[in-house]
Amino acid sequence: MTRRLQPGKLVIASHNKGKIREIAELLGPYGIEPVSAADLDLPEPEETGNTFIDNAELKARLAADLSGLPALADDSGLCVDALEGKPGIFSARWAGETKDFTIAMARVNDEMADKEPEAGRDAHFICALSVAWPDGHLESFEGRVDGTLVWPPRGDRGFGYDPMFEPIGHPLTFGEMDPADKHAISHRADAFRKLVATLL
Ligand code: IMP
Repeated sequence: MTRRLQPGKLVIASHNKGKIREIAELLGPYGIEPVSAADLDLPEPEETGNTFIDNAELKARLAADLSGLPALADDSGLCVDALEGKPGIFSARWAGETKDFTIAMARVNDEMADKEPEAGRDAHFICALSVAWPDGHLESFEGRVDGTLVWPPRGDRGFGYDPMFEPIGHPLTFGEMDPADKHAISHRADAFRKLVATLL
């Protein structure tokens, strides 16, 4: 049976301050008090899963086990149809140690260029969200946004692969859009809508 999240502390199993702030704003109205993994000195586990949900679940599980509190974790990435879903769960890794997404975007475009033109330029972002409770219970959700990859990249807003991703039905890339417009339609918003509808 689905379990509801009760008002109180929720560990956000992320060391990314921007992400934690965004999640705090989303869940604040429900009486959820976010505590960051960094505040609790929790380690960042290796992402050894084969899917976005596997990775979100392993991060949430470790944080819940170590803290004794419910914990929320996410995992996300870009999946390109012509590349059989790559970079997928390796989206961050394609940017290398220097986290240079100019390089990651060029790699995506180069690998697509090696494919037949009919492979197309469709892609989607996925965001998995998992909540783990200390007693072993888990709830997971997946959000998605579909779009087309453009070249050259356009716009300097957003992050990661945003400048090359044009969501369906919009003339602008995520890198050109007002952040509020991106947040209304993004994979992360979709996953959060599902989480809120089920757990809160
Ligand atoms: P993680 O979920 O923090 O492991 O990050 C996954 C990677 O996917 C990020 O480093 C970005 O490269 C990419 N990614 C996830 N969401 C977005 C997005 O909304 N825009 C652009 N890139 C994204």
